[in-house]
Amino acid sequence: MRNLFIDLDGTLIDARKRVYEVFRFLVPTANFSFDAYWEIKRAGISNESILTNQFGFSDLQIANFIGRWMQEIEKENWLELDEPFDNVENKLQKLKNEYKLILVTARQSTTNTLKQLKKLQLDIYFDDILITNQTLTKQVIIKQKFDITPNDLIIGDTGKDVEAGKALGIKTIAVLSGFLSASTLEKYKPDYILQSINDFKE
Ligand SMILES: [Mg+2]
Repeated sequence: MRNLFIDLDGTLIDARKRVYEVFRFLVPTANFSFDAYWEIKRAGISNESILTNQFGFSDLQIANFIGRWMQEIEKENWLELDEPFDNVENKLQKLKNEYKLILVTARQSTTNTLKQLKKLQLDIYFDDILITNQTLTKQVIIKQKFDITPNDLIIGDTGKDVEAGKALGIKTIAVLSGFLSASTLEKYKPDYILQSINDFKE
């Protein structure tokens, strides 16, 4: 069976509300609407660039922001805001017949990630769950545990997912359901760009 490596945030669950609310919590003076914030972010502009260019943050303030961001972003109260995309459970069930499913996420907290997956009942579809804990890249953590063949695939919503797939020499599928727009993702040259994981033909 071929391996299908699947990203979590932006691919299986909608994490945009959490990201937006944590940003507003840390930068109370920012009065972006949800849509305005995500229009900027989907163009590939980082929080750090927004804060430097629009709010005149110094390097020290940026470093402080990043530290606080990492502390907040995976707290349980924020994770509560995440919602699985429509039909994701059905899709995973179908994909499971054709592929070995491996969840690969760049989350920091193994405990909170596993707890959330269990709560959302998404854990049951996966043969394995790999969490980088923000210490390794996805390609490294995958390679440590799996024998990769060129027929394997990776699906995710960011350039990092595409880059991981390319580093591994496998097929790359980018989805538009997450953090980046089509024109931003095109720069990474994924093999396919789909609206969401539901458009992936198993
Ligand atoms: Mg993602």
